Amino acid sequence: MKKGIAILGSTGSIGKQALEIVSIFPSRLRVAAFAAKDEVDLIVEQVKKFQPRLISVLNDDVKQKVEAKLAGVKVEIVTGLDGLIKVATVADAKTVVVAIPGSLALTAVLEAVKLKKDIALATKEVLVAAGDIFMNEAKAAGIKVFPIDSEHSAIAQCLRGEDRKTIKKIILTASGGPFLKTPAEKLAQMTAKEALKHPTWKMGPKITIDSASLMNKGFEVIEAHHLFGLDYAQIEVIIHPESVIHSMVEFSDGSIKAQLGAPDMRVPIQYALLEEERQANHWGRLDFGKVPSMTFQKPDKVKFPCLEFAYEAGKKGGTLPAVLNAANEEAVSQFLKGKFNFDQIPVKIKAVMDQHQNKEAPSLADILAADNWARTALV
Ligand code: MG
Repeated sequence: MKKGIAILGSTGSIGKQALEIVSIFPSRLRVAAFAAKDEVDLIVEQVKKFQPRLISVLNDDVKQKVEAKLAGVKVEIVTGLDGLIKVATVADAKTVVVAIPGSLALTAVLEAVKLKKDIALATKEVLVAAGDIFMNEAKAAGIKVFPIDSEHSAIAQCLRGEDRKTIKKIILTASGGPFLKTPAEKLAQMTAKEALKHPTWKMGPKITIDSASLMNKGFEVIEAHHLFGLDYAQIEVIIHPESVIHSMVEFSDGSIKAQLGAPDMRVPIQYALLEEERQANHWGRLDFGKVPSMTFQKPDKVKFPCLEFAYEAGKKGGTLPAVLNAANEEAVSQFLKGKFNFDQIPVKIKAVMDQHQNKEAPSLADILAADNWARTALV
């Protein structure tokens, strides 16, 4: 039987690749609904190709433009946060792909969990800011959570058939980001303009800076804590610039399992959407003849303090991880506007974390309030 899926964020990078997987497995998957923002032409193309019965767009203006280009096509179009929730809770979807940023995702994903939808999760904020709430609700509802992130998919694959009690630790690999080899003094003084000139700038500014500062890896540490129920002391990060090993698990007997493959997000997306069933695909495979070496090094904590901030926020818990996430978003945004140099990003984030009055066992409202506060507290 075809599984219905709803995609939150169909026009983003993950959403587009999720749709590609649907088109490769038409007898297995079908798009029940999707939510997108305002890319009118792409939205129209996706509706025509995947024929969802419901879509949600940013606002009425976008809705009218989409409707005008979809004359005669049968699809219900809704808007705003209500619309997003309608897509996340659509009756004929078994799984919801969550690939939109921020607090919007948080609200929508919790509504989906209440209706017992399985979640294929790409949005980092859900686990970083509200990991306890999300995982508790997921457990109570008895749903499955499939990570859409190469590291967490790797860990989940390594854990298949294993007793979780035998996990000694997990080892998250990190590429080290585009500035791994940049000397510390030069990195510290780097401006947004210089960063934008960097040849490896391919992923979009926010994620590239998060990858350069290792904050992205820090968020993944917090995600792993929640997804796999591990203590922070059991989560290690190792720099592996070749990105051939996507992550590893060490067991009580000293054995280590790793998941390797060509770095292609479609692999973890397919694995998630097909509920961990392995099916042939047609894209590139790893050729060890073309991997001259695999190298590893410990992360430089002085050069990349953000990684430690994530461990600190994760261990303290409460509203602090949400504050970390929001302060980072604000700091990166200001950095990209040229307001300060790279070395000020961690300084600004730390100042906000230190000022924050942490609230334990927060509600969703507490988390959203802490997020708001952190953005205004960053100066
Ligand atoms: Mg990742």
